[in-house]
Amino acid sequence: MAAEEEKRCSCGSVMTFSGRQTLHMNGSPFFMETSTRFAPVDVYVCPRCRKVEFYLPKCPEEESLEENAMRLYAKTPERELRALLADPDYPPEVHRGIRRLLEQRAGHEL
Ligand SMILES: [Zn+2]
Repeated sequence: MAAEEEKRCSCGSVMTFSGRQTLHMNGSPFFMETSTRFAPVDVYVCPRCRKVEFYLPKCPEEESLEENAMRLYAKTPERELRALLADPDYPPEVHRGIRRLLEQRAGHEL
């Protein structure tokens, strides 16, 4: 995180960037495909008062969920990636990104 993007909490502490996350909007276990929206947000946490704030990324259109997932899970162990693939709560774009990561890793072994 660049220093000039420092976020200050209302208590005065500097908030810590805690990564890009995906919020599940209108999440429903029964209408997952049609009604759930996935909003990428940057998460900041205050180490002092434990406040959590979400910020919309500056240009959410620039990075697809698939690219976001590839960046987010670049260092995640394969075992965990396969567990994420089996989790229907994640949108298809995220699964596509994870599959591409797995393919990249398997690339030189095949
Ligand atoms: Zn605070």
